[in-house]
Amino acid sequence: MAYLQLDNIKKSFGDTHVIKGVDLQIDKGEFVVFVGPSGCGKSTLLRLIAGLEPITSGTLSLDGRDITRTPSGKRDLAMVFQSYALYPHMSVFDNMSFALKLAKVSKDVIKTKVDHAAKTLNLTQYLHRTPKELSGGQRQRVAIGRAIVRAPKVFLFDEPLSNLDAALRGNTRVEISKLHRALGATSIYVTHDQVEAMTLADRVVVLRDGLIEQVGTPMELYDRPANQFVAQFIGMPS
Ligand code: ADP
Ligand code: MG
Repeated sequence: MAYLQLDNIKKSFGDTHVIKGVDLQIDKGEFVVFVGPSGCGKSTLLRLIAGLEPITSGTLSLDGRDITRTPSGKRDLAMVFQSYALYPHMSVFDNMSFALKLAKVSKDVIKTKVDHAAKTLNLTQYLHRTPKELSGGQRQRVAIGRAIVRAPKVFLFDEPLSNLDAALRGNTRVEISKLHRALGATSIYVTHDQVEAMTLADRVVVLRDGLIEQVGTPMELYDRPANQFVAQFIGMPS
């Protein structure tokens, strides 16, 4: 069995079928990117995996455990949001430790974990600042730090770079990739930007209208796109 396994996952909002039967197997350590046009269901699929929305039907398992109905906080997954989701009035330290405090982790352990994450992310000298005293790239690193301190089994990223300018986007993309390798993490990364997808991914999952069109390495998608939709989407200038 795969590390993270999706079997015939479906999601409807009322009469609207948004995810229409997704099967996917992700190995430990993989960096998988969900890509596809706006509205195809990328965020919804990620939110189903995160447990932020209930799954209508199908099963989801992580590391051999069925987590289809497991509450979000008990799934061992951490979602990285865009940096504007930081708490503006809290320091970097408090932003990064918030989830641990909620989980009633002791102060000493929190300090060790936050210090370690801050070191990994080059944020040590900014721990006392508030988000508005940071650059966009630093803020995005804090958003990642909030996930790292929880030592999740899987990192889930939903377009984390979309509110950064082009230069920062490139740098932060490289940082995310390095971090993924350094942590030995398993990551799922959502983007509508095919260049971002092709440069980050071990495997790309191309979504269209709630279904998977193709799964493959970037090279496989370049060389053998399964159909016209994939070929056009991958070949599109960003
Ligand atoms: P993407 O992230 O690929 O842009 P989304 O997953 O956000 O797409 O949305 C996919 C479709 O599901 C869209 O048509 C959107 O309007 C619909 N949708 C998403 N969330 C909800 C919701 N809570 N209620 C109703 N429709 C939703
Ligand atoms: Mg989205």
